[in-house]
This record gives sequence, structure tokens and C-alpha cells, in this order.
Amino acid sequence: MTKGNINVSVDNIFPLIKKFLYSDHEIFLRELISNATDATLKLKHLATLGEAKVEYGNPVIEVKLDKDNKTLHIIDRGIGMTAEEVEKYINQIAFSGAEEFIEKYKDKNGKDAGIIGHFGLGFYSAFMVAKKVEIITKSYTDAPAAHWSCDGSPEFTLEPADKTERGTEIILHIADDSEEFLSESRINELLVKYNKFMPVPIKFGTRTETLLKPKDAKEDDPAPTKEVDNIINNPEPAWTKMPTDLKDEDYKNFYRELYPMQFEEPLFHIHLNVDYPFNLTGILYFPKLNHEMVAQKDRIQLYQNQVFVTDNVEGIVPDFLTMLRGVIDSPDIPLNVSRSYLQADGAVKKIASYISRKVADKLNSLFNDNREDFEKKWDDIKIVIEYGMLSEDKFFEKAQKFALYPTVDGNYFTYDELVEKIKVNQTDKDGKLVVLYAKDKDEQHAYISAAKDKGYEVLLLDSPIVPHLIQKLESEKEKVSFVRVDGDHIDNLIKKEDAVISKLNDEEKEKLKTTLEEIVPKEKFTVQMEAMDSNANPFVITQPEFMRRMKEMSQTGGGG
Ligand code: ADP
Ligand code: MG
Repeated sequence: MTKGNINVSVDNIFPLIKKFLYSDHEIFLRELISNATDATLKLKHLATLGEAKVEYGNPVIEVKLDKDNKTLHIIDRGIGMTAEEVEKYINQIAFSGAEEFIEKYKDKNGKDAGIIGHFGLGFYSAFMVAKKVEIITKSYTDAPAAHWSCDGSPEFTLEPADKTERGTEIILHIADDSEEFLSESRINELLVKYNKFMPVPIKFGTRTETLLKPKDAKEDDPAPTKEVDNIINNPEPAWTKMPTDLKDEDYKNFYRELYPMQFEEPLFHIHLNVDYPFNLTGILYFPKLNHEMVAQKDRIQLYQNQVFVTDNVEGIVPDFLTMLRGVIDSPDIPLNVSRSYLQADGAVKKIASYISRKVADKLNSLFNDNREDFEKKWDDIKIVIEYGMLSEDKFFEKAQKFALYPTVDGNYFTYDELVEKIKVNQTDKDGKLVVLYAKDKDEQHAYISAAKDKGYEVLLLDSPIVPHLIQKLESEKEKVSFVRVDGDHIDNLIKKEDAVISKLNDEEKEKLKTTLEEIVPKEKFTVQMEAMDSNANPFVITQPEFMRRMKEMSQTGGGG
């Protein structure tokens, strides 16, 4: 038997990287800024530990465009690299210095440093858009600066450099087929998309700030201005803070920050924060859900250590919650795998069920804390809740406490309250509870008022998934049937006290029924021997539902 290493020639790897490493070329900037962020956070960590004797200061990462030379520069004031480290970390593809760092400092809170990288591939994504990449870097130690350069072939050069400031500058010589990345607006778009909430400030150009006029200024003196760094990110987004440190207003502001084009305020928020058995933070918002919103593309955004990954959270967030808005951030979601794998992944399943539990708990506490307010919001949130009740048994169970059933009169009952309210009045002869409901108040007006005259409660159930919800309730709950207010069964309802009023015994009832059925045409009327109204008549004769409808149609002139 022979054993050995497969020798992968770098010659073949570059074109592969260029084509297949990431389907989205634009993520190169996210990767390079992630590395710059890691380098800065590493230095911070070492400074805190006392291992790096440096002035940490307020480091900023700078992104610069040089259109004349067709280059894009990413400059950081982080840990830097010695020439040996460049050899080790850059020249070895798929060797992650980030992973090594976390491993090395794992007993010294290394994991909490917030380091992003871990595959050791991010840097090479630069070659998706650049024909040549340079690194000029100076370690925080005394070691001299180094200059690495590579044009995408397996050969690189590494030589001393005269950089004196600590940190790293990456220079991308943008390839001819990628010139879009020399446009300011395109770079700005990428920064906003991927880096808006990254933990180290990122500067892209400057902007003019208008200052207050000095007190002695004349009326038509122009307000003084000042050029300031254009920082594109908020390094401390709300979800990274403790819920106790945030006010309601802070959550609303963060919503506006996330969705600048969304003018409607969210109804309420849920702050997610867990570190065992997985790590997850985030804020979810219940928006006012109207028809346009469902189609809108403002969605829940997924981050890893404050780096934007995707706004397609399918498979991670339970389906019924994908209508919500907000952010979730977790380093524990494996993203280099297919969606179908994600759905089967144990950790991801746990995350999904944690999220739906938190949402149920929040709804429950909103209901308990301020029921009136909860009722007001019901119409805007019911789609999500009803959909959740249908799709998840656990959520269905929890929702028993807060799911509401509104009546045509504008009362909102929980299921238990509803049962309590109707159990005397609305049962059929098998003792089954009969819940009457209408879908449309105006259309079914006549039936609604007839039912109300009899003292029945009529629910108004108008969301599109109601038929499914009813099926679910009928199968989960004991002895209940939901009946349309204009349906046949309404005539089978018994008032309990009336039921005992009938003076006839069974034999007499049978006899009377036969007699009556000989008189009234069977195809048009139904004879029932149950006393139904308060006059305690021993029988009722009713018209079947379809007959009533026919009549209605001819009266209104429709149906032709
Ligand atoms: P990863 O970030 O997953 O470790 P990368 O391919 O993105 O992999 O980067 C490889 C390594 O190169 C990093 O782990 C780090 O050690 C080093 N490196 C890359 N960029 C910088 C930088 N700006 N400053 C210091 N070191 C860097
Ligand atoms: Mg990286």
C-alpha cells in the first residue's frame, strides 16, 4: 500500500477560485473588510490582554478608490503581518489565521473577540475582481514591513517595504471585466449592503457637515461647513446591546435604520438573545401586514458576527415567521451548505424552534400585559399567528392562551372564553358545541342578525386560511363544529333549557313527524321534532340552505 498527499497545483486552483469559490463576485469586499475587522479586533484583544503594548486608539478601516490607477484600497490599523506571517497566512490557501487565533486564545476569551473569518479562503476572493493584488503590511511588533504582490499566477513576490504605520493595506488592481467596482456608487451600495453594522468604523470618502452659525453671524452669512469622515456603518447596532439598555424608541430607530424606505412603524419587537446551546442574537419586528407588505422585499436579514450574509432566511426561521422583519445574527449557522441540508441540520432546527418559542412567549406577554392593545393589533398580526398554529403543533398549543376569535360585534374571545360563552346556548343534539361564523359582515348580514336574535354569538373569521384553521380546531378540540352562519346546521342548535320543555314523548314525536311530513313537501322543507324557540313549539319546519339562497337570489334579481 502506498500513502501520500495529493499535490494540488496552484496553477489550476486560481481559475477555479475565480469561477466557483463564490457565485457572487461582489462579496470580495465583504471578505476583505472582514479581514481588516478581524485584524483590528485581534489587536484590541491583545491590547486588552497586555500582550500588545500599543496605543489602540479609535482605529478606522478605510476604503479608497483610485480611478486613475484603477485600484481599490482597503486600509486597516490592525494587527498587521510580518513577512513570515504573510508566508504562513496568505501563501497557504485554506489556512485560516482567524481559526488559529481563536484556538490559541480559547482560554482567554478568544471566542468573545468576535473574529469573523474561519475558512481561510476569504482573501483569495480578491482575485475574482482583481488582476493583481498587493499587500503592504506592518506588524504591531518591531518586525519590518512587508510587500506581497501577486498577479493571479502561482508566483508571488515578497519584499521589504517602508511602511511605518501599523496595519495593512490591500490594493486591488481591478480587472477589465470588473470595472463596475471602480464606481463610487457601486462600492457604496456594497458597503451598505454587507458592512452596515460591522463592529469597526468604516470610512469611505468624506462628507460635508453643516455646522451651527456662530452667535455673531449676520443673517445672510452662509452656515459654516466642515469636511468629516464619511463613516458608512453603525458599529454598535441595537441587537448587539442588552435589552435592558434599550428603550422602545431605540428599537423603533433601529427599524428605520434597517429599512430606511419603510415608513410604517412596527407593531412590536422581540429581542432574541441566547448563548447556549447555540449562539444567537437579533431583533424581530412584527410589521403591519397588509397585502402589499407580504410582497415587499424587506425581509429578515441574517448576519454572522455583524457581517451581512443573506436576506433569505428560509430554512432557518420557521416558515410562518418569514413574514416578520428584523435581524438575526448567529455564528452557528452553517452557511456553506445547501438550503436542503440546512433544513435537516440539528443545530438549525434548534434555532428555528427557539425562535418560534420566543415569538409565542412574547405574544403571550403582550396579551397579558395589555389585552386591549393586543386586541387592537390582532387584525394586523393574525395571519402570522394563524399560519403558525396550522404549521406547528407546539405553537398551536402555546397560542391557545392568546389566539383571539373576534365576533361580529367586535368582541375578542380566546377559545376558552368562547366556549364558556356559548356552551349553554349553542350545542347540537349530540352535545357538540356549535361555533357560528361569518366571513363577510355585509354579505351575510341577514343571517347574522337572525342568529343574534336567537342569542347566538357569531364569529367574524375572514382571513384566507380560516378553512384550514377550522379543520385544525375541529380535529384538536373536543366536540366542536364550526358552522357558517348561513349554513344548514344552524337550525339544529338547541337551547338547553328549551330542550326539556317539549311535552311529547318519543312515540308521540315520531307520529307527529310522519303526519307533518305528509303535509309539507319533503324536497322543500325539513321537519324537526326538537323544540327550538322560546315558545316551546314541539316542532320546527325549516327550509334547507340552498332553498333559502335560491329565494334570496330571486328577490334581489340576481342568479340569472
Ligand atoms: P480567514 O479570514 O477565514 O482566516 P482569509 O483567507 O480571509 O481567511 O485570510 C487568511 C489570513 O490572512 C487571515 O486569517 C489573517 O491571518 C491574514 N490576513 C488577511 N488579511 C489581513 C489583514 N488585513 N491584516 C492582518 N492579517 C490579515
Ligand atoms: Mg477572512
